[in-house]
Amino acid sequence: MQDYDFIVVGSGSAGSVVAEKLSASGRFSVLVLEAGGTDRSFFVQMPLGYGKTFFDPAVNWNYKTEPDPGLAGNADHWPRGKLLGGSSSINAMVWIRGQREDFDGWAAAGNTGWGFDDLLPIFKAIEDNEAGADEWRGRGGPIHVTDNRSRVHPLTHRFLKAGQQAGLALNQDFNGAAQEGVGVYQINTKNGRRWSAARAFLRPAMKRANIRVVTNALATRILFEGTRAVGIEYLKHGRTINARAGREVVLCGGSVNTPQLLQLSGVGPADLLKNLDIPVVHANAQVGANLQDHLGINYTYKGRLPTLNQTLRPWWGKMLVGMQYLLLRTGPLSMSMNQGGGFFRTDEGQLRPNMQLYFQAFSTVLPKPGERPILTPDPWPGFSIGLSNCRPSSRGSIMICSKNPLDYPKIVPNAYSTETDVEEMLAAVKFVRKIASMPAMSEVITEEVLPGPKCVSDDELIADFRKRSGTVYHPVSTCRMGPDASQSVVDPRLKVHGLAGLRIVDASIFPDNISGNTNAASIMTGWKGAEMILEDHP
Ligand SMILES: Cc1cc2nc3c(=O)[nH]c(=O)nc-3n(C[C@H](O)[C@H](O)[C@H](O)COP(=O)(O)OP(=O)(O)OC[C@H]3O[C@@H](n4cnc5c(N)ncnc54)[C@H](O)[C@@H]3O)c2cc1C
Repeated sequence: MQDYDFIVVGSGSAGSVVAEKLSASGRFSVLVLEAGGTDRSFFVQMPLGYGKTFFDPAVNWNYKTEPDPGLAGNADHWPRGKLLGGSSSINAMVWIRGQREDFDGWAAAGNTGWGFDDLLPIFKAIEDNEAGADEWRGRGGPIHVTDNRSRVHPLTHRFLKAGQQAGLALNQDFNGAAQEGVGVYQINTKNGRRWSAARAFLRPAMKRANIRVVTNALATRILFEGTRAVGIEYLKHGRTINARAGREVVLCGGSVNTPQLLQLSGVGPADLLKNLDIPVVHANAQVGANLQDHLGINYTYKGRLPTLNQTLRPWWGKMLVGMQYLLLRTGPLSMSMNQGGGFFRTDEGQLRPNMQLYFQAFSTVLPKPGERPILTPDPWPGFSIGLSNCRPSSRGSIMICSKNPLDYPKIVPNAYSTETDVEEMLAAVKFVRKIASMPAMSEVITEEVLPGPKCVSDDELIADFRKRSGTVYHPVSTCRMGPDASQSVVDPRLKVHGLAGLRIVDASIFPDNISGNTNAASIMTGWKGAEMILEDHP
């Protein structure tokens, strides 16, 4: 039996921070188990390389949801990072914190210490913002945030102008005083390289003698003595190994794997566990329930001006941007495909933005099987205005279907299963068309390719977004935090209700989804969770 003070399961956005903070003082021994392998790969480090990692089983769990009636029966592809850095090593790097009201809502639900004013110092401490520090922003922290305002494709400026013509304000900083408006996305990169949680937190920590990071190590069961978690059973190269945690086991496997590991270990809905013949350690119907995710769709246009398609598609263009990237670490390969974007309200009755925009100066309507064709876009000058909802009310679940830890759990998103979600998306796609119809955009558009001019009535628009939309990769809340043990999985100090020695620190604890991309909030959760663990082990 191996012996440590803490065992951290998963080295993703939150787990990397937890591992760094628990090992920093040198007082504790820390074992980090990561099911995937190294992040030292060209397509992980090169920002636009996430087109390649999107389906790559070497670094990606590649989940598939159940066929979803809300998505016209489609089974959605759910990439999740399976490597050091987790999903922060394969994501699109857009750096968004969410809205003040998101976190104030968490606190108002009884999660003391999780209001925006409590968290702002952490958000500031996390980042090294190229645009500089102010009341809202931080400098000198571990995550480098690149300000791309001077680097985006010229068409992005047209999108910003059209957004303003459609009534939105120009917003210089979505993580500043207000989120609403159109602007350029900041991304977590440094000198043209992805700046994942692994690079920012885990790799520096790995130089310490008191931390051991084991890759290709799949945690298969939490070991309990009564109701106290005392260790982890894991699988490495076909061998089962037990490791003991003298102080705590910290689950950081993310919104899919954390509920899966709990259920495999006898913590979950009683009926599910009994049906699968898993001895119940602690019954809690909330484990794997309350799944929330953002859904997105693209409207794609053919244009009169060259887009990134003309640069990224031909062999000579690939060679040019490749050289530019290798020699100077600049150009399209050093950026996210989402260069511009914004937040807006679908009607005046909304008190804050309920929709997010993405502008992509290229298009990928013609898919290549097994590849997200970011690096091989369409042969014509195309671009897309993308959209995702901020706080959908549909709820799904993630439940195991067997005792075998190698079997994937069943993911049921229940997308667009409420009237409100359908109505707000309908209003939102109409607003996308409004942006496209503004002079700054319409004068360069020759044709709407998707969904196309024949898609006009409400019924046609709804049928189209049911058929074409899918996850924008922000599943949360499957082990949600809350003070009431009958309605949640962890308490506001992230301790699992009803058990000792066990915490969850990852996006699965979000009481509700935040308005925007979830990486920064996951890293914040890692930071705050680690602080609370250290307070409890003075
Ligand atoms: C394709 C894609 C694009 C995205 N784009 C953006 C974006 O642009 N901006 C943004 O803010 N967010 C984005 N996100 C979302 C964001 O990256 C995630 O919300 C965030 O990384 C979640 O952090 P986490 O710590 O909860 O889980 P993860 O980062 O997923 O980490 C979980 C880790 O645990 C490991 N693990 C799981 N189970 C086990 C086990 N049993 N044993 C051992 N190890 C295990 C996993 O392999 C993984 O490394 C994107 C996500 C994806 C997949």
